[in-house]
Amino acid sequence: MSTYRPCPACGSESISDLPELAPDPWRIGQCDACALVYLRNPVDYDALEAEDLAWETKFATEAAQREKKRGRLKRFARAVRGIAKRIRGDNQRFYTRLLGTGRMLDIGCANLIRMGPPNVPFGIELSKHFAEGADKVMRAAGGYCLQGAGAERIFDFPENFFDGIVMSSYLEHEVQFPAVLEGAFRALRPGGRIYIRVPNFSALNRKVSGADWPGFRHPDHVTYFTPATLKDTVQRAGFDFKLVNRHKIWLDDNIQALAIKPAA
Ligand SMILES: [Zn+2]
Repeated sequence: MSTYRPCPACGSESISDLPELAPDPWRIGQCDACALVYLRNPVDYDALEAEDLAWETKFATEAAQREKKRGRLKRFARAVRGIAKRIRGDNQRFYTRLLGTGRMLDIGCANLIRMGPPNVPFGIELSKHFAEGADKVMRAAGGYCLQGAGAERIFDFPENFFDGIVMSSYLEHEVQFPAVLEGAFRALRPGGRIYIRVPNFSALNRKVSGADWPGFRHPDHVTYFTPATLKDTVQRAGFDFKLVNRHKIWLDDNIQALAIKPAA
């Protein structure tokens, strides 16, 4: 098990543990300086990749136990969310409205193309299997998909290259999120935008459900953003911040936001 890390956003080592929110051996803490909530002992990505173990295999047992505990009603709610997510995945208009059109990068794209022609689709995907599939389809549409960690591969694209970037259900998994945002700032054209969707730690449902909140996934979710800490995070990387689902955000289990690179 890795040692407990300092705050990944501001570097502070003054962290308050929140033991009621994570079962052993996982440690969730809140930074006393910037209020970020995060997993203090994440699993090493490189070790996982070297062993050629997918998250899904390694933690399948834990996931199965969690499902059992949640019961039927919650599984139903999850199925509905899954359907909604698929519909949204198909809805290119949703992304076009927020990001415009052009060269579009999807980080953590799996084998999906969320933004087809007239966009030129690009991707970064950790799973070799998914990356191969995505690459094939993206090449046919003029783009390509790189396999590897987002925080590393983002720097392999040219500067000021993308018109838009999608990080949907991605940033909460990325241990090195400041690095991926730094790389995204470099790779986006001035005025370009990132669409970010992450679980909302300050949602009413989280406060009511405690450790049973569906946003908790140990250890594959490593950061638990609130609208305030997400705003801090993207502003630290040089972006302007805009909340997409501002209306009743306190009732929403997810945050949807835009990170906008200021026009030159
Ligand atoms: Zn901090």
